[in-house]
Amino acid sequence: MLRLILLIALTALATTPVAAADLPRTRAEASNYTATSSHADVMAFIQELQQRSNRVRVETLGTSTEGRPIPLLVIGDPAPASPGDLRQDPRAVIYFQANIHAGEVEGKDALLMVARDLATGPAARYLDRLVVLIAPNFNPDGNEQVSTRNRPNQNGPAGGVGVRVNGQNLDLNRDGIKLESPEVRGLVQNVLGRWDPVFFLDSHTHNGSYHQEPVTWVWGLNPNGDAGIFDYMAGTVWPAIEKQMRERHGTLTLPHGDFLDVREPAKGWVPLGPEPRYLSNYVGLRNRLAVLDEQYPYVDFETRVKGARSLMLSFIDFLHERRDEVVALVGRADRATVARGASPGPGDVFVIGTEAAALPRTLTIRGFEMEVTDTGGPYPRVKPTTTTRVYENVPYLARYAPKRTVRLPRGYLIGTRDPVIVDKLREHGVTVLQLAADARLEVEAFSVTKLKGAGSSDQGHYASTVEGSYATREMTFPAGTWFVSMAQPLANVAAHLLEPESPDGLVTWNFLDRHIAFQWIPRPVEYPVYKVHGPANLVTAPAQ
Ligand SMILES: [Zn+2]
Repeated sequence: MLRLILLIALTALATTPVAAADLPRTRAEASNYTATSSHADVMAFIQELQQRSNRVRVETLGTSTEGRPIPLLVIGDPAPASPGDLRQDPRAVIYFQANIHAGEVEGKDALLMVARDLATGPAARYLDRLVVLIAPNFNPDGNEQVSTRNRPNQNGPAGGVGVRVNGQNLDLNRDGIKLESPEVRGLVQNVLGRWDPVFFLDSHTHNGSYHQEPVTWVWGLNPNGDAGIFDYMAGTVWPAIEKQMRERHGTLTLPHGDFLDVREPAKGWVPLGPEPRYLSNYVGLRNRLAVLDEQYPYVDFETRVKGARSLMLSFIDFLHERRDEVVALVGRADRATVARGASPGPGDVFVIGTEAAALPRTLTIRGFEMEVTDTGGPYPRVKPTTTTRVYENVPYLARYAPKRTVRLPRGYLIGTRDPVIVDKLREHGVTVLQLAADARLEVEAFSVTKLKGAGSSDQGHYASTVEGSYATREMTFPAGTWFVSMAQPLANVAAHLLEPESPDGLVTWNFLDRHIAFQWIPRPVEYPVYKVHGPANLVTAPAQ
């Protein structure tokens, strides 16, 4: 009988608003912000939330190296059973992830709270126009390596945090191009490929310059991404989020970055580089709105959790209000990318070298007077004093202006049967075709005269760079040759992978070393990918 009453009570809970006391609490809340959620805490919280709300469905984004499932919450009203359910559904899909660097933990606890806000709280009102995907614990293996010795400069939680790397000792926010980790492969295939969210947010905690704003963020910065999306992020989203954070959440924000020169703070504020190994830049290359969120490490854990949650809710509010505009923007970016690939003009280029340039809008940074001591090395020692100081009109060097470019082609012909290139393209979701018949045509070839490995290892790689020259010539390619058309939405990803001089491509991460090293073949060596510029009337079929 008692069981029956309990069952009725639970059934009623699933359909009626839940009293706050019955809702799951994060480890951060339950510990009064002295500890962060373990993997088991995250799984238990999600299970409890599912028991109390039918708006939450759970998928698995991937399985970590140590065998832990990475939960992906699908929150909707109703929660779609699969992306196919949304074909005739105007709701936009947006995605948030945290704890990719598992010492930078507040986003994980904040995202669990956001999931609860959406499933059972007032934020449920956003679900009429949005489906929200949440991966709160992107790096569960790193998360379990809790120690109070990790990130010693970070201000809590006192109970310690996990480590930066995953179970392969890889930094997952360097894996956007090479896709060597199950976590990032899972993101690309099971989130970006499967659900195609219009918006992506990756939550971190920064280490760097001293200032008073607890929350910083920036958008996708790669110059080969869609210019319309970049301008929308810098011109519309930035001021809107800044205003909402200040007025509705009482939280100051600043675009992510560091002082260019701490001796002269007014010189400039510099964000991370433009390379798509960083996931926010990678998602930008895929023509989607992308955000790198970096909390300030020197404010306490509670302030960081609440700041991250406020930022996430501010984006949800913005995307709810501007859904139609954002959906139209990314659709336009996809169509423009396809159209450019079908008929590239002389002005359509791929940027291989950049220089930092200032955006039109300057920054006001609420900082401190700083004590700067020379160390003899390249970086001086910096200590903030307790005296606050506002730095005004600081240039924000967040535009990576083209310094060196090459022509974008109509497509790339792959001159080797080794699947190493095509396998990686497909992991990214790039469509690969095959020649249905032999073809003789004019291509641009690249001769490698120098292949150089970096002097030190990064992510298990001695990053390669090539030097060489381009030449146009006629060549015959047999039936079955793989062809990557640039008339596809992921063309910018394809170019980044395939261009020989790409600053973050297949060459960089050593996938092509065996084809271009001078071990057995005399110099120069032919780069095994050829660019097709002219209308070629190639007869192609989907690749096997
Ligand atoms: Zn980080």
